Amino acid sequence: RWMTSFSYTAGPARVVFAPGAVRHLDLDVRRLGATRVLLLSGGRHAEAVEQALGPLLVARFEGAVMHTPVEVTEQAMAELRDSAADCVVALGGGSVINLGKALALRTDVPQIAVPTTYAGSEATPVLGETADGRKTTQRSPAILPEVVVYDVYLTLTLPVAMSVTSGVNALAHAVEALYSADANPITDQLALEAIRRLARGLPQIVSDPSDVSARSDVLQAAWLAGTCLGTVGMGLHHKLCHTLGGSFGMPHAETHTVVLPHVMAYNAAAAPDVMRRIAEALGVDDAPGGVHDLIVRLGGPTSLRELGMAFDDLPRAAELATAQPYPNPREVTADGVLRVLEEAWTGERPQ
Ligand code: NAD
Repeated sequence: RWMTSFSYTAGPARVVFAPGAVRHLDLDVRRLGATRVLLLSGGRHAEAVEQALGPLLVARFEGAVMHTPVEVTEQAMAELRDSAADCVVALGGGSVINLGKALALRTDVPQIAVPTTYAGSEATPVLGETADGRKTTQRSPAILPEVVVYDVYLTLTLPVAMSVTSGVNALAHAVEALYSADANPITDQLALEAIRRLARGLPQIVSDPSDVSARSDVLQAAWLAGTCLGTVGMGLHHKLCHTLGGSFGMPHAETHTVVLPHVMAYNAAAAPDVMRRIAEALGVDDAPGGVHDLIVRLGGPTSLRELGMAFDDLPRAAELATAQPYPNPREVTADGVLRVLEEAWTGERPQ
């Protein structure tokens, strides 16, 4: 019943987790042997990082957008070339961090990722890019940031609604890691700890967004869950969200939040032991229903309808998401996926 042999590849990243850690970013730049930094940011908290970098900072780029379109990457590439930067600091959510990864894939420039959401992209050697309206994903050691700096103070400004959806984005990595075809005892522990911290921390953030200890719990969960995402293969949930984001322009974290309970319900009978462990970590009786209830309690979105998805697009989304086979605990069929999407569209509590 329990596997006794497995392989586990850890990413070779240095991780700094400390309140106020960005104040010492210059030391991490020097540790990499770099002296010229290109700062990628979404504007938020740039000043604190600029101050820490001092004369090491030679250029800035603030044009990152969701889904990493290659045209934007080309603009940032020009900035990298013109400034002769030898290090990239990516400060922001998944969108900014992915841009740093896109530069590293092309040039192998060392990256320091400073995440300000819970998306977990900083912990993965995976990059999704969009060209000609199509999102494709690739995996390479060059993509993984060399250094990740988690500074909880930077997350205090993340609005509650985004904290909730981004937190559920992290929850989705943990859930799918537990029933992954590559699941192993190490990622299982990381995933369960992430779920426990999210279940505890997210309600506390909703009642007090400036609660540093709750923010710290959730940021640590984001790291653990991101590590799972980077280590084992994901299933139907990630495939569906990727399709809805890449081909229908749906917002990343919100879509993850709406879809997760419904994919869990679809997979529940095929992974009963995993569902029991998730329910235990969440402190609920039933994992899919418990995740739905948690999202409702946190005030998160529950339906694709409220996110603006057209009901008539669901069959095409189901078709795109099932075009290629991929591992999932329960067999993925076009009919089954269409039903999941219809349930996610209306947003009822999964049975
Ligand atoms: P995001 O980076 O687009 O950020 C969402 C919004 O929150 C932006 O407006 C941003 O400016 C704002 N924001 C971020 N941090 C803030 C803070 N601390 N305070 C105030 N505002 C803040 O969203 P995201 O969900 O972090 O990332 C989504 C993107 O990342 C998608 O393109 C997704 O595909 C990608 N992603 C990739 C991976 C991977 O492993 N390759 C993993 C997860 C996500």
